[in-house]
Amino acid sequence: MMVLFISDLHLCSEHPLSTRLFLEFLAGQGRQARALYILGDLFESWVGDDVLSDPQAGAPYAAITAAIQGLSDHGTAVFLMHGNRDFLLATTFCRATGATLLTDPTVITLDSQRVLLTHGDLLCSDDVAYQRLRVQMRDPQWQRDFLTLPLAQRLEIARQYRAESVAHTSAKSEAIMDVNQATVVQFMHDHAASMLVHGHTHRPGTHTFQHRGVLHQRLVLGAWYEQGSVLVYNDGNFQLETFS
Ligand code: MN
Repeated sequence: MMVLFISDLHLCSEHPLSTRLFLEFLAGQGRQARALYILGDLFESWVGDDVLSDPQAGAPYAAITAAIQGLSDHGTAVFLMHGNRDFLLATTFCRATGATLLTDPTVITLDSQRVLLTHGDLLCSDDVAYQRLRVQMRDPQWQRDFLTLPLAQRLEIARQYRAESVAHTSAKSEAIMDVNQATVVQFMHDHAASMLVHGHTHRPGTHTFQHRGVLHQRLVLGAWYEQGSVLVYNDGNFQLETFS
């Protein structure tokens, strides 16, 4: 039975095309799969699950949560991992969708092969400034403090953060924003996996290398800005597909 992997949809009201593609994907290909893994950055930003119950800010998410719930009800197991933009997705969102939250990283077994799943930002170890920020934003106390702020203030902070992130990202070199190969090798070694699936870098592709005489593969999911992107596992094979 088919297993699907997606990431980096960056859903937001400014890019309705991605949302439309995602809803079509959930109603179509998603239903043929036994499991769907969403490996982070489903949303462009997420300031707390209480956004779902806000009449104005929550409205754009109603169709999305209902469609994921529809897929869960249909019998496809939906798994969700945090990305660097939606790491505050929590239990209320999971209850509204039927999705199961996974820790980053997680190892799954497909036909007796260990497959290591991660969003991918942990692998970008050359970006020291980002890694420092990541530690801060994943601190439980920092998150509790942030979530006690009024929703409108959190939405405004997220908007400012996104604007700053765009400015920083365009100033950083391409190499710094890709994965560090030594970090990848160590990460796969630590988790005893010769297959790795991640997103985050928006550089879809298949990378094959030898480590200690064993063939290793790193499969990178694509982002959903201009088209849909999905990694399909079927009959022991992985295939990266795009659609529009
Ligand atoms: Mn990301």
